[in-house]
Amino acid sequence: MSGLIRAEGLGKTFGGTTGWLSGKSDSVRAVDGVSLEVARGETLALVGESGCGKSTLGRLLLRLIDPTEGSVWFEGRDIASLGASEMRRMRQRLQIIFQDPFGSLSPRRTINQIISEPLEVFNVVKGRKARRERVAELLTKVGLPPGYMDRLPRQFSGGQRQRIGIARAIALNPAFIVADEPVSALDVSIQAQIINLMQDLQRDAGFSYLFISHDLAVVRHIADRVAVMYLGRIVEIGSKRQIYSVPQHPYTQALLSAAPEPEVDTVSSRIILEGDVPNPSALPTGCTFHTRCPIAQEVCRVKRPSLDEVAPNQFAACHFAKPNPIPIG
Ligand code: SF4
Repeated sequence: MSGLIRAEGLGKTFGGTTGWLSGKSDSVRAVDGVSLEVARGETLALVGESGCGKSTLGRLLLRLIDPTEGSVWFEGRDIASLGASEMRRMRQRLQIIFQDPFGSLSPRRTINQIISEPLEVFNVVKGRKARRERVAELLTKVGLPPGYMDRLPRQFSGGQRQRIGIARAIALNPAFIVADEPVSALDVSIQAQIINLMQDLQRDAGFSYLFISHDLAVVRHIADRVAVMYLGRIVEIGSKRQIYSVPQHPYTQALLSAAPEPEVDTVSSRIILEGDVPNPSALPTGCTFHTRCPIAQEVCRVKRPSLDEVAPNQFAACHFAKPNPIPIG
């Protein structure tokens, strides 16, 4: 698989005003020096607790928000350097599926109007009749009867609305889709159907997903590789088998062992994380996980660990991660 999209040193800080009396800054470092790559046809899952910067990173990759620093390369081009018309063309190739399909579907517009809008705006399908035919085809692809196209979003169930959101996302034949917690608002039985649909569509069209989720059971089902995020940084990244079988970072191990059905294959006892996630506007020094890490040492408080390779294509940011002796794909 070759690289499709690549982030280099990507960072985003929100806010930044300094209180006149307090002298304190209220800036929040949401994403902090993230470098990663998603290959063509690959699903990279991004996991971590809520508020760790996953959604911000997804939006930075799509350039829905601008980074404070760093760059995003898509099909070999730095998308920050594109002019307005080139970026507009690029938009067709970069899509998003939201967690809340109802909130993202205009309530007064029919499904046909919602799905055909990008086809019209980007002049991909000309003429009303041809667009209706394309919408019918898209609805069939996502498992909905084409005859439903003149209905309003409120006439659909949550799962059906997510199918509509997916139809809209694939309408322009994208190469890269950020799926931001796409099934977390759905019943478990419906979740499996939507995940299977997303996989089938990917198999047919060959696009890539950044699949953002806090649900490690869902991620285990859909991911090729997994990136673990904590307070704006990637702390571990590797193949699904590496992350679930030989996780090297204590945070990854804790997340896996704390899942309702422990997902980790090799850690036998549960690891309970002490304390809350620190305030992102006042990040801990050194390793930002040291305030909760069960094996933290003095060095962790002062020195930030780099994301180092611990096995072929498995990287962990921990001073005490050991090179992984198990050759695993
Ligand atoms: Fe824990 Fe230290 Fe490793 Fe951070 S660097 S994860 S605090 S052991």
